[in-house]
Amino acid sequence: MFDKILIANRGEIALRILRACKELGIATVAVHSTADEDAMHVKLADESVCIGPPKAADSYLNVPQILAACEITNADAVHPGYGFLSESARFAEILEEHKIAFIGPTSEHIRLMGDKIQAKETAAALGLPVVPGSDGAVTSGEEASRMAEQIGYPVLIKAAAGGGGRGMKVAESAADLETALATARAESKAAFGDDTLYMEKYLKQPRHIEVQVIGDGQGNAVHLGERDCSLQRRHQKVWEEAPSPALNDDERATIGATVARAMQKLNYRGVGTVEFLYEGGEFFFIEMNTRLQVEHPVTEMITGIDIVIEQIHIATGAPLSFAQEDVRFSGHAIECRINAEHHATFVPSPGLITQFHVPGGLGVRVDSGAYAGYRIPPYYDSLIGKLIVHARNRNECLMRLKRALDECVIDGIETTIPLFSALISEPDIVNGSYDIHWLEKYLEKHQGP
Ligand code: ADP
Repeated sequence: MFDKILIANRGEIALRILRACKELGIATVAVHSTADEDAMHVKLADESVCIGPPKAADSYLNVPQILAACEITNADAVHPGYGFLSESARFAEILEEHKIAFIGPTSEHIRLMGDKIQAKETAAALGLPVVPGSDGAVTSGEEASRMAEQIGYPVLIKAAAGGGGRGMKVAESAADLETALATARAESKAAFGDDTLYMEKYLKQPRHIEVQVIGDGQGNAVHLGERDCSLQRRHQKVWEEAPSPALNDDERATIGATVARAMQKLNYRGVGTVEFLYEGGEFFFIEMNTRLQVEHPVTEMITGIDIVIEQIHIATGAPLSFAQEDVRFSGHAIECRINAEHHATFVPSPGLITQFHVPGGLGVRVDSGAYAGYRIPPYYDSLIGKLIVHARNRNECLMRLKRALDECVIDGIETTIPLFSALISEPDIVNGSYDIHWLEKYLEKHQGP
């Protein structure tokens, strides 16, 4: 086992990792920017190192500084969390060169899945169903229009280096294609320094269903069931639940087993998420995330498995400690992402939290680094916490979520809590009948200008 883990992240996920380390008896090192001196993960870690000024590029993405922090503190492993360096194959390699363990997959697998064109080709070769689309990159406008005719409009132009919904544009018809290509190319270049694009059939009413996997790189890989993350705003998840209200037990078992088999073939090491769109009873692979995800707690709640602890075990070189048949699913879980944003305009709302009271009771979990008196810095993602509830079935889960939201008091800043309090009584949400466009349509209707 590791003696000391450096957590190369901030906010709720840094705290989440710290909790796993403490339960394993592993010493922790927090790193932070000058804007995060008062952050909870810094207060609770055994040691902390300031790695630079507020801007992420100068601190949380600053590899030489993070390496120096490892050297100074003698950390023998780094947990990257999500975002920041978590999907940097180069960072994983550099750590390896310095004999520091990277708590994640091999750099080869990170690189493979980081390029979405290669990821799709790999997925297809591993027997996963993929969205119909271009074979590889789209280079010229002519080629694009030929492909779009073949695939059939509407088509979606996507960035090979994509992430966070950026560099993605829909072309409804041939008339839109040129503009869609140009905007996607510019956005992708600006966001990722890479303007390689590809094309996919644009699915009209799909759900976003993803499968959590864990493998040990020694031939063992299992799935931990699916999550439904269809409630999205600007291609970003807002509410996640497990199991998906859209699947029956047969579909659930089949997609889980298909993904687990694919990960065994790949000999995948670490935790990962294989993402699909689901429409008309069919699954279509869109991408794989080779890291811990924001929404991992809903899976933990229905399986009782601590995903971060398992991730750490595997990174030491240990084999997976359980088999597929040991994974038992129980009840239903829902996660709401609490952002420091206005619930209708989504304008970020950093600043001082004056009151902070989070709900408790049976089946209620709050993952957050916020507290009363904490000032949210304006430099980072607006996610300040996650409310996760678990109950025996979906109906009980919704009732529990409603009462947990009622108990929540966060003053001084705006949050997305009122949005969730409104969603919980929407008939479509209660019935579980929503697709990836549902929330945008709801927001247009209820909160439009
Ligand atoms: P990113 O890496 O930027 O998050 P993804 O490929 O995971 O991009 O897609 C993000 C979201 O965009 C999906 O959850 C879905 O809502 C939408 N999306 C992606 N591909 C398609 C498609 N072919 N048709 C319709 N919507 C899509």
